Amino acid sequence: MSKTVKDLIRSIVDFPHEGIVFRDVTTLFADAEGFRMAIGQLLAPYKGERIDKVIGLEARGFILGGAVAHQLSTGFVPIRKKGKLPGAVISEAYQLEYGEAVMEIHDDALTPGERVLIVDDLLATGGTAAAAITLCQRLRAEVMGCAFVIDLPELGGRKVLEGLGMEVHTLCE
Ligand code: 5GP
Repeated sequence: MSKTVKDLIRSIVDFPHEGIVFRDVTTLFADAEGFRMAIGQLLAPYKGERIDKVIGLEARGFILGGAVAHQLSTGFVPIRKKGKLPGAVISEAYQLEYGEAVMEIHDDALTPGERVLIVDDLLATGGTAAAAITLCQRLRAEVMGCAFVIDLPELGGRKVLEGLGMEVHTLCE
């Protein structure tokens, strides 16, 4: 029987800190059939919908989002961690377990009324995606959905994003 997306994701114990089990998608990306399957499943709900841009979240969201954008024939826009984008940006801070992180988008990357899809590899607390949604909305784009390969349901991200009125699409838990 052929492998599923979930079968191709590897768990690394004690990365990046002791006690954390990191879900490693590089094994999925390296598998030709698995990568194609993941991209096909990520974009399936949005086929036939008008999407103007795909937004990828640093860093693995770039790999997935780039492929999804190519398949949907849309442009691609990165949302990056603070200080990485070269042009003028708008920023959004969000809470981490310890401290704060900041995500940024170029201030001219989206035009008002554009319909965007946000893509990342994994949904945990939803903080990163919620910051990305806010950035898109501050540029007056319409977020049509958020798509992730992995949902960690015990961390509650789906509820957070649904609470913001988002449609959340995930491939496995
Ligand atoms: P959140 O903001 O939802 O708590 O965390 C999601 C972000 O952290 C995503 O950008 C995701 O790439 C990253 N992340 C957190 N834990 C993991 C993990 O175990 N595996 C992978 N691949 N990414 C993770």
